[in-house]
Amino acid sequence: MTETRLPEIVLFDTLSGTKRTLEPLVPGRCGVYCCGPTVYGLTHLGNARAALVPDVMVRFLRHQGYDVRYVRNVTDIDDKIIARAAEEQLAPAELARKYADEYHRDMDDLGMLRPDVEPAVSGHLEPIIALIGSLVAKQLAYAADGDVYYRVRAFGPYGQLSKRSLDEMLEGAGSRIEVDPRKESPLDFALWKAAKPGEPAWDSPWGPGRPGWHIECSAMSSAHLGETFDIHTGGRDLIFPHHENEIAQSQGAHGPGTFARYWVHNGFINFDGEKMSKSLGNFFTTREITALYDPETVRCFLLTVHYRSGLNFELEAACPRCDRVLARAEQESGACAGCGAVTEPELLRAQVRFPGLEEADDRLAYVYTTLQRAGAFLDQGAPAAEPGPVLEHTAGMLVAFIAHMRNDFNTSGALGALSKPLAEINGLLDSGKGVDKGARRRTVERFVADFAEVARILGCFGADPGTWLARRRDLKAARVGLDTAKVEELVAARQAARLSRDFATADRLRAELAGLGVAVQDGPSGSVWTFA
Ligand SMILES: [Zn+2]
Ligand SMILES: [Zn+2]
Repeated sequence: MTETRLPEIVLFDTLSGTKRTLEPLVPGRCGVYCCGPTVYGLTHLGNARAALVPDVMVRFLRHQGYDVRYVRNVTDIDDKIIARAAEEQLAPAELARKYADEYHRDMDDLGMLRPDVEPAVSGHLEPIIALIGSLVAKQLAYAADGDVYYRVRAFGPYGQLSKRSLDEMLEGAGSRIEVDPRKESPLDFALWKAAKPGEPAWDSPWGPGRPGWHIECSAMSSAHLGETFDIHTGGRDLIFPHHENEIAQSQGAHGPGTFARYWVHNGFINFDGEKMSKSLGNFFTTREITALYDPETVRCFLLTVHYRSGLNFELEAACPRCDRVLARAEQESGACAGCGAVTEPELLRAQVRFPGLEEADDRLAYVYTTLQRAGAFLDQGAPAAEPGPVLEHTAGMLVAFIAHMRNDFNTSGALGALSKPLAEINGLLDSGKGVDKGARRRTVERFVADFAEVARILGCFGADPGTWLARRRDLKAARVGLDTAKVEELVAARQAARLSRDFATADRLRAELAGLGVAVQDGPSGSVWTFA
């Protein structure tokens, strides 16, 4: 058997603080573990970004020939789940199932691949208890009143990932946390929590209880990827303490040099400058946003920024009376400093617009329009008879795109590499002037073929263009409050005027439609309208 050498891919590793070449444990294979959701509520864009980063990474590694095993866990036992279950009057397990289903619905909508394995805590009590037992046996953990804590001071390299010293952590902990007398040190964290009355509980050598949050990822990653595996991903907010604790647990139990070999962390989403998280409450759920925009627009928007950078999710709300765009403080109070009108928060929420999503939506419409035109062009003639040169930008598109992706999964650069080819193709479709007929045909053919590969890697641009554009038109009409029934009526009236050769009326109706921001295209199968 000959070993084929796979292309070199570099990625930024948080632990070393440098870009490193990916050298998997087993050549040609790659194990990826992603910290998944705690299922107690609907998802927001922060969850979507944390799932999208490994999604695109896995798609790209597979495209490059790697045999990837992708594991993402579900935290279905947790304090927040228990609290929310009480509010919704459901059993905790039932609530977790409900929101795991909702999570899948949102992620499927956004075009995320399902992981190869999706382990849940409730199905992994045995390996979790075994791992805690081995930490206790090694004096790295101790039992106290039915709880089990990790003895942080006993693990030398603690702080290596977050680059913090124990003293710094103690200082931080001292001001925040009441010192629990059962703990040897305020830094020690729970591996096992004794059950309180009425809470779900499992038997263990330390009495009935449930696992702490951190231990599950150590146990489930080694159950499905082995004690040592390649890439661990998660949001930056998980570096400390969650991932620091995962390392302490796994390396504590399995020895130095084990566990994740590359640590990949994505940046936050800033909601008008503030970090977006469930605790802030000032966020829109994924579902509220995909009711306004096609999920693919949301996906594209998230990919426009490098995964390690912060992503600003701006929103704009205009005063319903004077139409002035309100500043952040005005949005909060609902009081317009311009005209003095005060708007209820719920009404204002309905006025909100998302400039970043609008931009992504327009760009995606441009891509699909180009693909639609290219498809129509190719349908007209016979395939290119012979191989030969294609125009410069299209010829270099896929190579440039992949080069960006190989450099730390730079989707922002990769999307940028599509701009000139898109312009080149539109130019060719507008006019073939000065271009050899064969070269024109070959260039469009190559563009369509290579773009399909780009689509597979990004999980974007793969829909049927006509279907996508029609749905987008309807969503946009709903967003801007366009009366589509009236538009259809005007289009039909104009069509009738044209048929009876009443061009003055047809022109007047076209102008009326233009006033609504609508353009009409006349084709052999009738007239269709689009946004101008
Ligand atoms: Zn985790
Ligand atoms: Zn106003």
